[in-house]
Amino acid sequence: MALIDTHCHLDLYEQPELMLRHIEAARVYTIAVTNAPSVYAYTATIAAGTRFIRPAVGLHPEIAVARAAELPLFWRALETTRYVGEVGLDYTVGEAPERIRQRSLFEEILRRCNERGNTIVTIHSRRAADDVVDVIGEGFRGTPILHWYSGSARTLNRAMRAGCYISVNPAMVRSHRAIKMVANVPRERVLTESDGPFVRVDGRAATPLDMDLVCESLAKVWRVTAAEAVATVHRNFAVLLDHDSKGQRKTTASMTPQRKQ
Ligand code: MN
Repeated sequence: MALIDTHCHLDLYEQPELMLRHIEAARVYTIAVTNAPSVYAYTATIAAGTRFIRPAVGLHPEIAVARAAELPLFWRALETTRYVGEVGLDYTVGEAPERIRQRSLFEEILRRCNERGNTIVTIHSRRAADDVVDVIGEGFRGTPILHWYSGSARTLNRAMRAGCYISVNPAMVRSHRAIKMVANVPRERVLTESDGPFVRVDGRAATPLDMDLVCESLAKVWRVTAAEAVATVHRNFAVLLDHDSKGQRKTTASMTPQRKQ
């Protein structure tokens, strides 16, 4: 059964097109996030015609304020892709005024996603999980995925009520604290991510092909076989792809690969 990577920075590998061919050959469904609207076109171009790679338009919180002028490109990309990321908040950077500006940019992005409907949004929330969940709110017409979640258990509960998924990467499964958090997430809300090339595995950049390692760790947490963990993550991804434009789920799941964005 196919592996799932909901957060991979394909454009930041040393050889993105070589990585893309490995992903296609291994048939790993991969959301290729971008950090700024101006680089989305590159990822969309190399991903065109692939079966397993979905380019996502993003504005990373660490550079959001500096790159805010690129937002018109973001809105244009939203017309052709339902995948959004990396977006979010990071309260380890900047001072209070920058954080206020970050939050208003993130609010604007989610407002546009909400208008569009049916988006799948992979979200960064370092030291800002509470604010991220506040901005998502309760009636978001799309699917938020909290990437590398490290907030409190209380905020995690709020995130679950807001319909969030949690994506787990190879660095998280090496962390006792993160594993404890993952054990508290309802199984049907868990996904896998590489966050490559930033996350490392055995001294090299993690890739979508490492998602089997993450599933092996999830299998231990859940006390199931690795194959069952792979199947659970696969099913979770199929269900979230199947949100219709009102944010409701249809009855049949579809994993039909997309030819073109
Ligand atoms: Mn990332």
